[in-house]
Amino acid sequence: MLVYNSQTHRKQELEPIEPGKIRMYVCGPTVYDQIHIGNGRTFLSFDVIRRYLMFKGYEVTFAQNLTDVDDKIINRANEQGRTAAEVAEEFSSKFIEQMHRFDILDPDIRPRATREIEAMQEMISLLIEQGNAYAVPSGDVYFSVRSDHSYGVLSGRDLDQLRAGERVEVNDEKRDPFDFALWKAAKPGEPSWPSPWGEGRPGWHTECCAMIHRYLGTPIDIHGGGADLIFPHHENETAQAMCAWHAPLANVWMHTGMLQINEEKMSKSLGNFYTLKEVLDRYPANAVRILMLQTHYRAPLDFSFDRLDGAVSSMERLLSCVKNLRWAAHAAPQDGNLTDADRSLGEAVDAAHAEFVASMDDDFNTAGGLAAIFGLVTASNKYLAEAAGSIETAVTLRAADTLVELCGVLGIDLTQESADDDLPAELVDLAAERAGYAGSSAAEAAEALLEARAQARKAKDWGTADAIRDGIATLGLIVEDTAAGARLRRKKD
Ligand SMILES: [Zn+2]
Repeated sequence: MLVYNSQTHRKQELEPIEPGKIRMYVCGPTVYDQIHIGNGRTFLSFDVIRRYLMFKGYEVTFAQNLTDVDDKIINRANEQGRTAAEVAEEFSSKFIEQMHRFDILDPDIRPRATREIEAMQEMISLLIEQGNAYAVPSGDVYFSVRSDHSYGVLSGRDLDQLRAGERVEVNDEKRDPFDFALWKAAKPGEPSWPSPWGEGRPGWHTECCAMIHRYLGTPIDIHGGGADLIFPHHENETAQAMCAWHAPLANVWMHTGMLQINEEKMSKSLGNFYTLKEVLDRYPANAVRILMLQTHYRAPLDFSFDRLDGAVSSMERLLSCVKNLRWAAHAAPQDGNLTDADRSLGEAVDAAHAEFVASMDDDFNTAGGLAAIFGLVTASNKYLAEAAGSIETAVTLRAADTLVELCGVLGIDLTQESADDDLPAELVDLAAERAGYAGSSAAEAAEALLEARAQARKAKDWGTADAIRDGIATLGLIVEDTAAGARLRRKKD
């Protein structure tokens, strides 16, 4: 399978360092607030990448950190009169909660910066010993970018051009303006740890690099993050690894594109800033997933609530199709002989599977994967319409199972929504009134009502048929007439 490597700007064959295994790391959030939907998109993209690698049979080890000590956390804590640890703890839990709501798989390893101080200090000491870092009188320790001949290789930047083109913070203690802090001397009131260079705390770039080395071993197969992290964060991560352990940090670097709102940059000042929580409060996770996966992970994603409404409809189309296939396989008479329609549905299942894999093998083209899935939805609906009365059970169930399986690889769970089918108890009363039903099961009451409605329609008694339908509607249900018969489902508003 082909994977695009941001470092070489080319798609390359994925060649695991250890056959059959993939070790991957994705930079996690700085926990000072709810994450925004752009971050949500990045984490979703790598969740799908991970799921697909697992589907392909790789044993994937996935690590993601929580940056729980940082200027932003300290500032937030000062604003709110709390400790940095309290703020970090609150937003670590909130982050994990939103990841669960978004059906993002937990990482195998979730290190926290504040618990990895020792590993970071060991790496910093090694860099100082090898002449790649230096401590200054104030107690900071800086990485010397000039000591790394390959500095700039990941982001394609040249230090001299950088110096001419970008404004950097003036700091007399640095030997080069692009030198970055590995260790920051403690300021009053800040969280700090003892170190050979005095009380202080680790720099952000140091954290990921030391954790990757400790938990996954370097180099790893895949390092990921948002495209905004390429420089300086990832450049600095890889520079440290190269100098400390004389090997690159990762074989393949993968970066997700930015998210825009109605084709504008998302920003608080434009008033179009959304947290993942706000969106998941309003829309089901599956619909947000479908919207995001319609765009390739490297391309800019255009997010809008109109598009989300469209994704909700797509999700309903998928669910209805799976339910109708299962319903038809269960309800319609079986026919031993394969008709042309049965054969062509079977071919559509195989084609959808092959197209899905071919798309995803091409640098995780989820838009192509979704197109394969919806192609099978179209073929299935056509089959259900045409094969009425002669449904072939095996091929019909295979179509339903394939839709569930392929959606599952994208993290779209079609099984959890079936709880939706629970029918309200009031159906029993309605069935007793309209169809003389005397039992207590809502499912049987539904059958009795549908049967009574079918009899009325057969007798062209439209008044009774419509009255039954309207009675059902008052319970929040709709009658769905499928080729294989009528069934009830909950109305979505
Ligand atoms: Zn990182």
